[in-house]
Amino acid sequence: MRSGRRSRRPPHCPNEACDSHARPGPWRFTRKGFFSRERAPRRIQRYRCQHCGRNFSSQTFSPTYWKKRPDLLRRVFFGSLACSGFRQIARELGVAHSTIQAAVEHLGRHCLLLHETLRPRGAPAEPLVLDGFRTFEYGQYWPFDLNLLVGISHYVYGFNDAELPRSGAQTPAQRRKGQAIRATYGRPDPRATRRAVTELAMRTIPKGETAEIHSDEHPHYAAALGRLPDRTIAHHTISSKAARTSRNPLFPVNLADLLLRHDGANHKRETIAFSKRRQGALYRAAIWQVWRNYMKSRSERRRDPPPAVAIGVLERRLSFEDVMEGRRFPWRVGLTGWLSECYFGRIPTRRMPRIRHHDLRYAV
Ligand SMILES: [Zn+2]
Repeated sequence: MRSGRRSRRPPHCPNEACDSHARPGPWRFTRKGFFSRERAPRRIQRYRCQHCGRNFSSQTFSPTYWKKRPDLLRRVFFGSLACSGFRQIARELGVAHSTIQAAVEHLGRHCLLLHETLRPRGAPAEPLVLDGFRTFEYGQYWPFDLNLLVGISHYVYGFNDAELPRSGAQTPAQRRKGQAIRATYGRPDPRATRRAVTELAMRTIPKGETAEIHSDEHPHYAAALGRLPDRTIAHHTISSKAARTSRNPLFPVNLADLLLRHDGANHKRETIAFSKRRQGALYRAAIWQVWRNYMKSRSERRRDPPPAVAIGVLERRLSFEDVMEGRRFPWRVGLTGWLSECYFGRIPTRRMPRIRHHDLRYAV
C-alpha cells in the first residue's frame, strides 16, 4: 500500500461481467480524453474497455467515487471512533444526519473489503479468544451479540452478529410488552449464536487446519466449536467470574470489548445513540476493526506497532490515507455468505421488516 498519487494505469475493467477478467494476456483499454470538474483532482482521465466497451475514468478507482463530499470521509471515520453520535458529527460538519449515515456505510463497506484483502489466509499462528459483545438494536427489547474472534496479539480476525432473546431483570409490564413484540415480529432463532460462531470460526480457520480458541463457558460456543467440519479446535473455557486482568486468557477480547464500548457512541449503556439497525453497528464495527488492526498501537502508552505488524501481516502502520488508497470491488475480493450479506446491507432488523439494501448498480 502506498500513499500519494494513484498509478496512471487503471488496474482492471470495473465491469464485473467483462470477460477480460477470465482471459489470459493483458487487459486492453483506450484513453478517451478528459473531463474536468470543480473539485480536485480537476482533470479526470476517461477510458474505455476494449473487451466490453464499458466507459469509466480514473475516478472509478478512487474510494471517493460517487461521493459528493469526499472531504467528509476522514472526519466521519475518526468521528465514528471517537464516541460521537451521527447527529453530533452532522452538527459539527454542518451536513444532514443522512449524509453522515451514508458516509459511515460507505466507509464500513470499504473497511470490510480492506480487512478481507489483508487478513491472513492460513491458520492463525496464535491462540484466539472468542467472545460476544452484548449490545442492542432499535431498542432494549432487541439485544444482539457482536461475536469477536481476537488473537492474543489483539488482532481482530473477524466478527459477526447473533440476535438474542431479551434477558435479565424485567418488570411485569416489560415482560408483557416483550411478549406482544415477539407475537408481532417473531422471536430470535435460539440457534443464532451457535450458527454465528460456526460461521465466524469457519471463515477464520481454513479447512484442514487446527486452532486454539479460548472462551467463557457459554454452552453454544462449545456446541459450535466441537462440531466444526474439517477443522480441529482445541477449545479451552474460562469461567466468566475469573478476574478480568491482563493475566486472564480472555484478556484480548475483554480489552476489545472495552475499546468498542469506549469508542463507539452506539454501544454506550443507557445511550440514545444506539444503532437503529444492527447493520449500522456492523458497518461501524468494520471501521473499528481496521483501525484496531492496522492503525492503532497495541498499547497507547508504549506507542508500539498495531497488531497487524506484530503478526507480520503488514510491515508498518497504515495512515487514514493508506486505508483509503484505491477503491475496492466486492466481486474482486470474492465475498460469500455472511460477509456478502453484511457488505450489501442485508442483515435484517426484525422490528423493521422493510429495510433498505445497498444495491446501487455501479457504486458498489
Ligand atoms: Zn471490460
